[in-house]
Parts: sequence; C-alpha cells; structure tokens
Amino acid sequence: MNGMERLKTEILREYPRHTGDDRFQFSCFKGISCFNKCCADVNIFLSPYDVLRMKNRLGMTSEEFLGRYTLLPTDQNQKYPAVLLEMTHTEDKHCPFVSAEEGCTIYADRPWACRMYPAGLASPGQNQAERNGKEFYFLIKDTFCRGHEQEQEWSYQEWVDNQEIGPYKEIGELFKELATHKWFESGKDLSPEKIQMFFTVCYNLDAFRRMVFGTSFLEKFEVDEALQERIRHDDVELLKFGFDWLRFSLFGEPTITIRPSVLAEANSRLSP
Ligand code: SF4
Ligand code: SF4
Repeated sequence: MNGMERLKTEILREYPRHTGDDRFQFSCFKGISCFNKCCADVNIFLSPYDVLRMKNRLGMTSEEFLGRYTLLPTDQNQKYPAVLLEMTHTEDKHCPFVSAEEGCTIYADRPWACRMYPAGLASPGQNQAERNGKEFYFLIKDTFCRGHEQEQEWSYQEWVDNQEIGPYKEIGELFKELATHKWFESGKDLSPEKIQMFFTVCYNLDAFRRMVFGTSFLEKFEVDEALQERIRHDDVELLKFGFDWLRFSLFGEPTITIRPSVLAEANSRLSP
C-alpha cells in the first residue's frame, strides 16, 4: 500500500465523518503565530486540474512545471501515475511557493489539498461500483495549527464555497471515473505505454496538445471543428477531451470515433 492509500485507509477507518451542515471552528490569517507552518514538509499530491492551474499561473509549459516542481513517486501497487509537489531541499523542506511575509504566492491557484485544509473530503468508494458511496468531510487537526483555537465558525459547505472548490471538484469527479474505472477491478494493469499515455493526458497537457495537433491524430479520429477550436486554446476543454481519449484508448469505451476510412483500411489489411 502506498502512502496515499495508507492515508485514505486511515481516514476511512478512524476519522469522524461530517456532513456539509456540520460545523467547525477555524480561522487562518497573516500574523497568526503558526503562519506558514502548514506549508512545509508535507505530501501534496497534485490532481490534473491542480497542475493545469499552477503551470498557467506560473506561465510555464506543463513540461517545465513538472520538471521543476514535482516528483513522480513510484510504488509497485500503483495502478496509474501520481504527481507530488516537491518541497525545497532546505532544512525545513518548505513549499517552493511559500513566502515568509505573504504566505502562499500562488494563492488564487493553490492546489485542492491546500484549499481544503484543514478540512478534507473523502469517498468510501474504492472502485466504480462503490464510487457513489456517501462522501463525507473530515477535519485535520495538526498540533501546530492554531487556527482551530479561533472563534470563527464554518459549516463544511460554507468552507468549500469560500475556498472556491467548485471547478476542482468538477474535474476531480471526471478524473475519479478514470482512476476507479471498472477495467481495474479484474486486477488488470496498464502497460507501460498506457501508463505513459495516462500521465501525458492528465499531467503533461502541452505534450497531449502536440499529440492531437502535431501528429496524424486528427486524420484518424473524428473531432469536430468547434471542439478542435476549443481544445486548441483552452486547457480545461483539452483535459476533458483527454479524459474521453483515455476512456477510449485505455478502456475501450466508445467515447472517441475512428474515421470510417481508417477503419475500412484496417479491415482490408486484416482480410485474407
Ligand atoms: S501551494 Fe501555497 S498553500 Fe500550498 S503548501 Fe505551497 S505555499 Fe502553502
Ligand atoms: S498552520 Fe493552520 S492557522 Fe497556521 S497558517 Fe497554516 S492553516 Fe493557517
């Protein structure tokens, strides 16, 4: 079991479960004695949408962002690639985006986990059949965090709204459909080529765009012109299209259409 799965198991087993209406006491502000303590020596797994937001915020290509700021942890039980934000190699291992005076320097585009903290959202579903299992909120109470001693109160729903989680959750749901796909339930593993494709689409979006527009991709697959226009310029649209591509290319779902001429040629090669 890798670190992420161990944490998930612990949360599902041990953490009190809360609804959106339950309330907690918390406030975080510049000047609080623990300011920035939560932005060091922490494992932050980045979602595809996190990477998209952060690389665009920094004006970098996805390759530059991944090479400079992330690690790719490997684990033999891992079914698909994961991306971890790399902490600096200083004594306190702080986040590369934290500044002593200002806190998070990419605040408007900070990752999902940072937005949610100290709350978390978990789903009991480990596979597609259970995917719609009842989600619940939980509260992380790190001993160093003084935010829990403040008087301000939030319901979990108010917190999520305040932290502008909406688009992160929307894309997160689409990603979860891939990560918990029923194809995995039979114990099958993706080939190294398919793992690479998964990584490219989900995290290296600029390389995926080159694959779509810089190869024979559009000669083989039907992508109408309006969609082409959207995915050429809009990373969110490209990522959603990429999820459809992965459902087709990894799991054989009919989410992408092969051009009839390509099919006919393939069939003619197969016939004796
Ligand atoms: S991304 Fe921002 S909020 Fe998240 S750990 Fe880094 S500095 Fe802190
Ligand atoms: S440790 Fe808690 S209160 Fe302190 S800065 Fe981080 S989130 Fe805010």
